[in-house]
Amino acid sequence: MIKLKNVGYVYMQGGPFEKTALEDINLEISEGEFIGLIGHTGSGKSTLIQLLNGLLKPTSGTISIGGRVLGQKGTDMRALRFDVGLVMQYPEYQLFEETVAKDIAFGPSNMGLDPKEIEERVAFAANMVGLKKELLSKSPFDLSGGQKRRAAIAGVLAMEPKVLILDEPTAGLDPAGRDEILFKIKDMHERMNMTVILVSHSMEDIAKLADRILVMNHGRVEMFGTTDAVFQQGQRLSEIGLNVPQITRIMDGLKQKGLPVPGGIYTVEDA
Ligand code: ADP
Repeated sequence: MIKLKNVGYVYMQGGPFEKTALEDINLEISEGEFIGLIGHTGSGKSTLIQLLNGLLKPTSGTISIGGRVLGQKGTDMRALRFDVGLVMQYPEYQLFEETVAKDIAFGPSNMGLDPKEIEERVAFAANMVGLKKELLSKSPFDLSGGQKRRAAIAGVLAMEPKVLILDEPTAGLDPAGRDEILFKIKDMHERMNMTVILVSHSMEDIAKLADRILVMNHGRVEMFGTTDAVFQQGQRLSEIGLNVPQITRIMDGLKQKGLPVPGGIYTVEDA
């Protein structure tokens, strides 16, 4: 469903401060997969996710999503943005409406849907992220940190994207808030058969959720394999600046208990 062929991206191409962010990216992601995206700071993760939802156009190569070729003449880029939902880092900073319900409705309201459909989508999305009905009439500023984060995710979900991209969705949350969000993401993924791409610095989050891991390094794909296979490459991951002690601890914990390594939702403490 998502296909990248020889994709490159250069910031400020041709200028004195030209910077190559991505080079020769080739990959395919199937519908319904859960992908963990990791890599050191500056490895190209955020450039890649902005390419996927059409915020940036590749400077070389082609990207197709669900058969639509990005940037090609005749491709409906508006429809593509609706198909690929992007939850940016600290999305709660973008909450601005007077009620939580209105905030969640903001995206679908821009899609030309009728009010009843919008209302249904808001209720559905709020339920999906576990926000209780009585919170919907409150100001988003009265919510807790975790609730705000969930409201922001609901706003993207209400657009019913086929692909959901989350950039560090648990950053800055306490452990209870983190687990709640991760559980909800896993649940949404399973119940809606949604393709999910999760960017995270937390190897723990990735280990809990991803089917496959895409490892970026200096603008190139370093590895793209099952969670198990990628975490086996501890030494290489360490060389490219990823937190190997954490990975090793997770893998050892799971193996000791004879638990399957990727995919299921569990906490390291359980393992
Ligand atoms: P990551 O998300 O993995 O930290 P980025 O995609 O943000 O990586 O960055 C990839 C490379 O592109 C880095 O070298 C970064 O400095 C550069 N870069 C990112 N955004 C810009 C920009 N707006 N202008 C110029 N260079 C940028």
